[in-house]
Amino acid sequence: MNKDIKIYLSPPTIDHSEIENVVRALKSGWISPYGSYTKDFTSKLSNYFNKDILLTNSGTSSIHLALKLAGVKEGDYILCSNFTFAATAFPIVYEKAIPIFIGSEKETWNLSPEFLQCAIEDLKKKGIITKVLIVAHIYGMSAQMKKIIDICNNNNITIIEDAAEALGSFYHNKPLGSIGKYGILSFNGNKIITTSQGGALILPNKEKYNYAEKLAFQAKEKVDYYKHNEIGYNYSSSNILSALGSAQFDKLEKKVNRRRNIFNYYLSNLKNKFAIDYQKELSNSFSNRWLSAFIFPASINKKIKSLLEKNNIEARFLWNPLNRQKAFKNFSFYGDSYFENTLFKNGLCLPSGDSLNEEDLNKIITIIDKNI
Ligand SMILES: *Cc1c(COP(=O)(O)O)cnc(C)c1O
Repeated sequence: MNKDIKIYLSPPTIDHSEIENVVRALKSGWISPYGSYTKDFTSKLSNYFNKDILLTNSGTSSIHLALKLAGVKEGDYILCSNFTFAATAFPIVYEKAIPIFIGSEKETWNLSPEFLQCAIEDLKKKGIITKVLIVAHIYGMSAQMKKIIDICNNNNITIIEDAAEALGSFYHNKPLGSIGKYGILSFNGNKIITTSQGGALILPNKEKYNYAEKLAFQAKEKVDYYKHNEIGYNYSSSNILSALGSAQFDKLEKKVNRRRNIFNYYLSNLKNKFAIDYQKELSNSFSNRWLSAFIFPASINKKIKSLLEKNNIEARFLWNPLNRQKAFKNFSFYGDSYFENTLFKNGLCLPSGDSLNEEDLNKIITIIDKNI
């Protein structure tokens, strides 16, 4: 093991097949937007999800499109996971809609069905009807979808699944992202598969696909001159990105297995030493364990983080819950602030990339074991 090579949190793994695909795409002259690789990558994803797929330039833009398709307008109230990356909620604010943050439950760390129910009832008392929910599957772990779907069905709420971190995860044999009316994926650099930047929107039917595609391509009407009846966006993907994505997707299962093994390795080595907590796989749920995330006893996480840093190893704190962010300070939160603070204050993600070898893992555990 070369001491000077940094171990990153979740670096991309690029092999011959990715390089070959990208070179072939470049040589073909079909750079952007569509080409044979956009077709290829789209059809791989459509088969996998059994849904219509629109490739986009990011997970964030996919969420924005999903909100547009769900009919969100200025002043609408949108229910949203609280323990997630800020990009889950930013597009709500782009539309001048109002996020309502729903706290996490302790088993999966995802949106709590109980707090969701509370929020809906409390809002109703205030005369506020909510029509859309964005639920994130954090670190690849499925939220308690059955309960969430029941609540949403009873209240006429459209579900958008933020599966940015959850490609390769399942709930009752369904891939995460295909359960709600809309789903989104991210292929940014540290996600389970990457196209450098990029994302996808998972759609319920061809009609929604056509509208999403139109919005993503500057809302050009299908005529032979430039006609725009509504405001559009430049959210499309490209043949080059898809060339990368198509090669990455073929290795998804292998990557998921590796990440799960890495998580289990950490778990079995850490649990005897510390009273740690972690996301529990519900029965009938299968997590890709995108990042190995743990809650440590108070302030141990900070010690581990700086210790690893000194050894050229990257670790990161968990997502800082959105109710704690200045950017969202004007919005309501229904949940247990104490638990949200615990996730932030005591949590840590350890290196989880699929290229980590046994020597790397051993090194990380040995450093922690010897020094803490
Ligand atoms: C990465 C991520 C996003 C944003 O995806 P981008 O492709 O970076 O725009 C959204 N939500 C969650 C939960 C993410 O982890």
